[in-house]
Amino acid sequence: MPIDASLPYDDGNIFAKILRGELPCTKVYEDEHALAFHDINPLAPVHILVIPKGPYVSWDDFAARASDAEIAGFVRAVGHVARDAEMVVQGYRLLSNVGKRGGQEVPHLHVHIFGGQPLGPMLAR
Ligand code: 5GP
Repeated sequence: MPIDASLPYDDGNIFAKILRGELPCTKVYEDEHALAFHDINPLAPVHILVIPKGPYVSWDDFAARASDAEIAGFVRAVGHVARDAEMVVQGYRLLSNVGKRGGQEVPHLHVHIFGGQPLGPMLAR
């Protein structure tokens, strides 16, 4: 069920629990600002989620409230994960769903990284 991304951050969400170590994940990368792990329900041969460590609901919330260091750290982490997964030569896709129309289900900012096969058109018509 898509969430309302205009609501304040709810620290009971699944990714907050993963960050606190209350739920497991298959980690692929972690640094001061970001955590990356495999999606539990992969939609491509490579489907990795990258999340900032701070309490941000969505991309626009992050852009408005995060520090420059957090933003730089997160953006760098996404690029690092894509390079580390050796997806640069073949190509990959980044996606961040926001709110009801965007189909966001977990109210903690996350970037999906898809790869490992041709990914088709950007959106179905
Ligand atoms: P959204 O629709 O919010 O952009 O995507 C949420 C993603 O989180 C989905 O692709 C879903 O499969 C993934 N997901 C939901 N719960 C968990 C979980 O507990 N662990 C992991 N690794 N991924 C999850």
